[in-house]
Order: sequence, then C-alpha cells, then structure tokens
Amino acid sequence: MAYDSSQIDAFKNVWVFCEQRQGKMMPTTFELISEGRKLADELGCNLYGILLGDDVDDLASELGGYGADGVYVYNSPLLKNYTTDGYTKVISEAVQEFRPEVMLFGASNIGRDLAPRCAARLHTGLCADCTHLDIDLDGYINFLRSGSSLDVDNMKFDTKLFDVNTNLKMTRPAFGGHLMATIVCPRFRPAMATVRPGVMQKRPYDEAGAANVEIMHPDFELVAADIETEVLDIVKAAKKMVDLIGADVIVSVGRGIAKDVEGGIALATELAELLGGVVGSSRACVDAGWISADHQVGQTGKTVHPRIYVALGISGAIQHKAGMQDSECIIAINKNETAPIFEIADYGITGDLFKVVPLLIDSIKAAKETA
Ligand SMILES: Cc1cc2nc3c(=O)[nH]c(=O)nc-3n(C[C@H](O)[C@H](O)[C@H](O)COP(=O)(O)OP(=O)(O)OC[C@H]3O[C@@H](n4cnc5c(N)ncnc54)[C@H](O)[C@@H]3O)c2cc1C
Repeated sequence: MAYDSSQIDAFKNVWVFCEQRQGKMMPTTFELISEGRKLADELGCNLYGILLGDDVDDLASELGGYGADGVYVYNSPLLKNYTTDGYTKVISEAVQEFRPEVMLFGASNIGRDLAPRCAARLHTGLCADCTHLDIDLDGYINFLRSGSSLDVDNMKFDTKLFDVNTNLKMTRPAFGGHLMATIVCPRFRPAMATVRPGVMQKRPYDEAGAANVEIMHPDFELVAADIETEVLDIVKAAKKMVDLIGADVIVSVGRGIAKDVEGGIALATELAELLGGVVGSSRACVDAGWISADHQVGQTGKTVHPRIYVALGISGAIQHKAGMQDSECIIAINKNETAPIFEIADYGITGDLFKVVPLLIDSIKAAKETA
C-alpha cells in the first residue's frame, strides 16, 4: 500500500529515536523510552526504539531495560556520525515501512535538527519542546487539574473534531512560558514530538526487559552520495559543562547575589560541594555574564528534578519555576518574604543570603563532624 500519512488507521506502535554519540547512548533516550512505554500502554500497542550508528547493537538491549519491546537497529559506517541527510533518509524510509503512530525525539541539538526534517519529509506534524505528553484523556484531565488554573470539571472536549482518547496530547510552554499549550496532530501520522532533556522521569531498570528485547535489522539503502555533508572532526567543548540534569543536589544563584557576585557564587559553590551537588543559576545571572549558560535552570535553560534544590536570591519567575518546580525538596532563601519562590518552597528562609548561607554552611559542617 502506498505511503499516505493521512491514513490514520494504517499506523500503529510508539517509536523513540535513540540518540547515541560516539557509541554512547544519550541519557535522554532512557527518559523517552520510559515515557514511550507509558504512551504505548495507554494505546495498547508496542514500543520500539530506532537506533542508528555503526556497530551499535551492544547499546540496544539496555533500551529493553527501560521498557522497549524491540529496537530497529540500522548499522552502517555512513551512520557512525550524525548527519542530517543520512539520518533523515534512513528514519523517513523506516517510518514509511513500519508506520508508527507516535514518534518521540529528544530536544537535543541533534533531535531539534532531525525531527523537523523527518516530519516535513513524511508530511506530518511535529510539536517541539514538549514538557508533558498524554494519550489517556483521564490522565490529561488530571494533569490539567493539578497543573493549570482551568475549571477542568466544567470543561467540554469537542469529540467530533478528533478522537480525544487516542490522539497524542502534546503540552509545551508558549508565549514566553506565560501559558501552556496542548497541541494535537489529528489528521496525520506519526504524531511527532521533541521532548526536553530531563523532563520525563526514567523508569527503574528491569533486567528481564533487557534480556527479552527484540533486536531487528531491517534492510535499508544508504550510499555516500545520499549525504551532502562530511564530518571532518568532532571537537569536545574545552570546558567541562556542569551536569545539572544528573545532579541530586543543586544550589542555584539569582540576581540576589548582585552586591557581591564572586562572593555569592563562592558561597553557593561551597554549599553545593558540602551537599555533594552542583551550582545552578537563574537566567538573570547568565544574562549579566556572572556565570556560564550551562548553569541556567528554567524554560530556556535546563529542566531539573534533584532531590534538593536550593534557590539563593531567586525571585521565582514562571520561567525559572518551569525548570525546577518538580524538585523533591525546594529550599528558598530570599530577603523578600513575598517572593513567588516561597509559594513552591518546602522550606523558606527570609533573610540576606550573605548572612544565612554562611550559617547554613557552618551548621552542616558541624552536623557532619558529629555524625
Ligand atoms: C522567554 C523567556 C524565557 C526565560 N527563561 C528563563 C529561564 O530559563 N530561567 C530563568 O531563571 N529565567 C528565565 N527568564 C527570565 C525570568 O523571567 C526572570 O527574569 C529571571 O528568572 C529572574 O531571575 P532572578 O530570580 O535571579 O532575578 P530577580 O527576579 O531580579 O530576583 C532577585 C531576587 O533576589 C532577592 N534578593 C536580592 N538581594 C538578596 C539578598 N542579599 N539575599 C537574599 N535575597 C535577595 C530579591 O528579593 C529577588 O526576589 C526568561 C524570560 C523570558 C521572557
């Protein structure tokens, strides 16, 4: 049957693009596989990874540990390094052959380049930078109930327009984070989404799932002439980036350090090191050139879920909260008792951070000595 992206019924199963670089799986892939499992269960279908590279079979079984039923592996020396042309061709042809109804990509630099190219070639829709995904309508309504100000119980969904129970509901911040928009792709398949790293929670690793995952090697065609670009060298950033997404503890600084920027960052660093964590920041500090952009938490920075998030002199703007409000425990120190950060803080201290943080550091040191 000729490929037609509007033939909704011809599409089945959830796919995740599994991004590897130099033979190492990107952590976002495991988050997306975990989320894909949830969506596949809601749809009552299978979850497959699609993995491209050169000799990357060894990476495939781990995907089963996070919930994949199977992995389509495409090995070729031409796929060793990412190229837009090569990856788009192989993925688009694989989608035409196997017809998944949902396809997820990480919103990494590669995912943001690849997903729109595939969506355009496959004549379907893509929602970029999603922060929440649902198939199940009840799950979506619960999400609205807890995460929005809508009068959910009196809302009516227009079921004539499209099937609200089976379409992927893709939610993302819009208008500078002032509202959240839910987008559906009712007329074409696959419904494609890119998802920001760190947003979705990774499931616990399951050895049995890893042992049972089906690894498939479909035939495909790719020749050097299909690829217009040549990767000459891969240069790693000279400076080591801070790993905010993987951190258990984050101590973030905001514009409240303005009166002594170096001193404020030094205090945050000392507190973070004592707690085994790393230093984050609000965008205000990045824009002011006080700290590098890889430290930024928030809508245009990183989304984080640490066990402990300490906000030092951060007001709690909606764009900052969007990146850290799901932290397990939020501790805010701010001299303004009406700062919005206190609305989501588990513990709040009203005071000057330059006075409070040294006291905190001393008491943690004392507690460690007696422990
Ligand atoms: C499209 C868009 C995207 C954005 N993305 C992001 C993003 O990803 N991340 C982000 O953080 N922001 C983002 N912003 C910016 C955001 O709107 C805020 O401007 C920013 O978060 C404010 O940073 P802040 O809290 O450090 O500064 P401020 O809002 O100026 O707050 C400083 C706080 O420090 C307190 N303070 C001052 N002195 C002290 C002291 N000595 N001790 C204790 N407290 C003190 C003050 O009471 C105040 O609450 C974005 C904005 C837009 C429009």
